[in-house]
Amino acid sequence: MKLVDTHCHLDNEQFDTDRLEVIERIKEQLEFCVNIGYDLESSKKSLELAEKYDFIYAVIGVHPIDIAQYNEQTEKELETLGKNPKVLAIGEIGLDYHWMTEPKDVQQERFIKQLELAKRLNKPVVIHTRDAMEDTVNILKNHPEITGVIHCYPGSLETAKELIDRFYLGIGGTLTFKNAKKTVEVVKNIPLDRIVIETDCPYLTPEPFRGKRNEPIYVEYVAQKIAEIKEVSVEEVKEITTQNAKKLYGIV
Ligand SMILES: [Zn+2]
Repeated sequence: MKLVDTHCHLDNEQFDTDRLEVIERIKEQLEFCVNIGYDLESSKKSLELAEKYDFIYAVIGVHPIDIAQYNEQTEKELETLGKNPKVLAIGEIGLDYHWMTEPKDVQQERFIKQLELAKRLNKPVVIHTRDAMEDTVNILKNHPEITGVIHCYPGSLETAKELIDRFYLGIGGTLTFKNAKKTVEVVKNIPLDRIVIETDCPYLTPEPFRGKRNEPIYVEYVAQKIAEIKEVSVEEVKEITTQNAKKLYGIV
């Protein structure tokens, strides 16, 4: 069974020199990958890639760091793009109280607008949350019909247990870092059928390549680490997380 990269950014300029080679390796080694937009332009680029390759899918939305650009016009364009069958979800959306490019109330209002957009389009969401878990969970509780994934899950085991009835947890390269204690605890105690694997490439490169550019096929190293923590075979991790990715994004 091949793995899925449920969260990558192939339109990033760090892939400008060898994007075709990176895509060729995805085609050979992965089941598929999902390219995630973070603003309107990258959402369009994401869909362009998805329309060109059958093993690449798109997610579209505006990231909390870029949320200043979100207005009625942006929403209209996203809604039109979102009707394309290669668009699997709305994301990455959420709250980021670490960078705080916009105040909390503005971030929350536009996060909620994008949750409602997902609901109208009948699609799951890809959530980004940084230093904002409590508000994120509260907002999600007010939208009980929304499902999706908490990307690069940064929270506690306790919060994970609250979320997994509706959300998958996205686990990436940070799991392989030496200071990953909290994430290791989460992976150890959450059933494998609630976990999906991601790279967030070109960022968050797993060991043994930490410090270099990340790319989708490195999901392999995350799968190995999950297998080690959960004391199961890598094959089992691949099989279950690939099924999870398909369920999450509604791919049959
Ligand atoms: Zn991302």
